Amino acid sequence: MKLTLILFSKSAFLLLALALFFFAACTQQQPKEAKKQAFGMIIHGGAGTILKENMTPELESEYTAKLDEALTAGYAILKAGGTSMDAIQAAINIMEDSPLFNAGKGAVFTNDGTHELDASIMDGATLNVGAVAGVKHTKNPINLARVVMEQSEHVMMAGDGAEAFGKLHDIEMVDQPYFYTERRSKQLERAKQRESEGASAAEIIPHEDHKFGTVGAAALDQHGNLAAGTSTGGMTNKKFGRIGDAPIIGAGTYANNNSCAISATGHGEYFIRLTVARDIASLVEYKGLPIAEAGDVVIHQKLTELGGTGGVIIIDRNGNMAMPFNTAGMYRGTVDEDGTKVVKIYKE
Ligand code: ASP
Repeated sequence: MKLTLILFSKSAFLLLALALFFFAACTQQQPKEAKKQAFGMIIHGGAGTILKENMTPELESEYTAKLDEALTAGYAILKAGGTSMDAIQAAINIMEDSPLFNAGKGAVFTNDGTHELDASIMDGATLNVGAVAGVKHTKNPINLARVVMEQSEHVMMAGDGAEAFGKLHDIEMVDQPYFYTERRSKQLERAKQRESEGASAAEIIPHEDHKFGTVGAAALDQHGNLAAGTSTGGMTNKKFGRIGDAPIIGAGTYANNNSCAISATGHGEYFIRLTVARDIASLVEYKGLPIAEAGDVVIHQKLTELGGTGGVIIIDRNGNMAMPFNTAGMYRGTVDEDGTKVVKIYKE
């Protein structure tokens, strides 16, 4: 009798334990699938008075195709697990090599009839930067900026010295005529004409020539790292070694993994005065603003109030993208982790 009782309570205990085990197994939360790291890239080819009525369908498709090509090149690198630094450099190289944009081939003319190029690049993971200003023979200034970042103990180099350094590191040099385009030459002629007629500084570049054309890219890679870069010929008719915002870290370019990556285009003097790129990143970092809001505050309020024109592209560490501008248009495009590309020119 005693034995049956013991056996019975033992099996009851086993049953109870089994039931508890199944209950626990069923109610236990399934472990969440690890969240995939978003990645993507955003680019610009300059902001300005870009109006559909002034554009031919051929030119429009040339711009669209070139922006698409730059996005495709950057995306291929990001998709294969490459770095955001490599992706933005590849995208910027394509735009620098195109006469459509004011960077590399197709750069604007200085008052002296020369070309002087500026560029910078920033790695959001390390806060390393490289910048070059007023270089005259560098085919792809963004490549020189990267070499300054990676191969020197400095962050910014200018003019002949920067190019002497570039030659030591096999950076491709070209003669000035390489940068020539008839369109930019005519732009300089018109600017000089207006200047001689006594036009104010603001009026010297006629309205239809207010197309800045600088190029830039910002990307987030699969490792969660942000990077940004900007390359430009500056402003038509610039004088006395004028340097714009593109090579100034915090003005035309900024990237920090703790907030976002930014590249700017527009009237550089205003972007420097407002340190536009760093201001946007600070609003994201310190105030927790979403990038779209931070960009709106700085472009549509601060920049506009000061009388500056232009725009920025922004990508954050979650892959969100924004591209505010206060001009009629901005050549721009995005590609997300699925490879979906969007290219736009005019204001929506
Ligand atoms: N931001 C450039 C500069 O002032 C011009 C541009 O965006 O095209 O040099």
